[in-house]
Amino acid sequence: NIPLQEEDKEIYDLIQKEKYRQFSGLELIASENFTSLAVMEANGSPLTNKYSEGLPGARYYGGNEYIDQVENLCRKRALQAFQLNPEEWGVNVQPYSGSTANFCALTALLRPHDRLMGLDLPSGGHLTHGWQTSKKKISTSSIYFESMPYQADPVTGFIDYDKLEENANLFRPKLIICGASAYSREFDYVRLRKIADQHGAYLLADIAHISGLVATREMNNPFELCDVVTTTTHKTLRGPRAGLIFFRKKKDELENRVNSAVFPSNQGGPHNNTIAAIAVALKQVATPEFQQYAKQVCANAKALGDALLSYGYKLVTGGTDNHLILWDLKPIKLTGSKVEKICDMVNITLNKNSVPGDVNMVSPGGVRVGTPALTSRSFKEQDFVKVAEYLHRVVQIAIKVQEKSGSKMMKDFVVACQDVEEISALKKEV
Ligand code: PLP
Repeated sequence: NIPLQEEDKEIYDLIQKEKYRQFSGLELIASENFTSLAVMEANGSPLTNKYSEGLPGARYYGGNEYIDQVENLCRKRALQAFQLNPEEWGVNVQPYSGSTANFCALTALLRPHDRLMGLDLPSGGHLTHGWQTSKKKISTSSIYFESMPYQADPVTGFIDYDKLEENANLFRPKLIICGASAYSREFDYVRLRKIADQHGAYLLADIAHISGLVATREMNNPFELCDVVTTTTHKTLRGPRAGLIFFRKKKDELENRVNSAVFPSNQGGPHNNTIAAIAVALKQVATPEFQQYAKQVCANAKALGDALLSYGYKLVTGGTDNHLILWDLKPIKLTGSKVEKICDMVNITLNKNSVPGDVNMVSPGGVRVGTPALTSRSFKEQDFVKVAEYLHRVVQIAIKVQEKSGSKMMKDFVVACQDVEEISALKKEV
């Protein structure tokens, strides 16, 4: 058994460089986190060698004595982490990712061409919630099903539930999806349940971004009102990259429908190393330390938002209830791409993001900023006030460079960034 460093120096060196990049800069991507050594150890274990199609106790391969125990432990911990009664709720821990979990859930709940409504991508929704443009069906969730997305109000940034209800009356969906990738506020699960019930529709919450905050009850609990809940395991939950699907066991044979939608409908053999790593992460989620972590994630997002507001900037919805803020750069005449570009140059990692009312998806008008990763690195409120100061300086540099370039084009902007002293000074400080 030859260590990686000797076996493949090229890959080893790239891993070291990426490791250095992750820890030397400021990681503000809202969907990322730093998982623990224990999770990584389980993820890199010999469990990756094993095939185990099927479920514990009913596999299509031999030799699954220990794999069955791992998957059962993971399922038990998943229900415990979200304080769910095993008589009422079940969970499938095999989805390879959040996107796969969502498509499996759609396979379980709908027939081809059934209608669904999810939050539109430009309003903060995810691709897998029925994303399509006026010209093209983009996601399989709109290719294989009929999708009518609902939107956030372009002025307030909050979801327009009245319009959603009005459109649901016309569209009569079989499924309403709530949950988002770039929405900084709580969902109104009570209202969504009411609308779903008016049409006999299922209600699915995709809590990928906020699952760590839901498990710790820092955010409202969608399990009370939803039929199915999906999540990724690598964002606020701080586990390996994968997905989970929770389902109401007693309703409409959902247990059978979800489990068979995962295997054999959409997946083959589960990634047992990942399932073991999810189990480790879920054990951590149930600790007082994680409770404190989730509280700090929200306190940090609020501190960051308040600090940016004090500089006079505009945040979509005016603030946050969760782990992220969506910063509308249109009032200062910048695009998300330009701010992201300068951030990259000074080792701050965030992403450009559309904001409600954007028309140009190629050049969105905002950035998304999240606190989970740096909170894992022990950042507190005052540290995020400092982060806000850095971001303020980034924006001031971007305004100056844009004026200097005298052009709206990104390539001219990049050229104009060369030899700007403030960029190298800020990079050194970060
Ligand atoms: N659902 C939501 C709300 C997400 O934000 C994401 C990813 O960012 C996903 C699903 C998809 O997860 P994955 O990238 O693991 O496929």
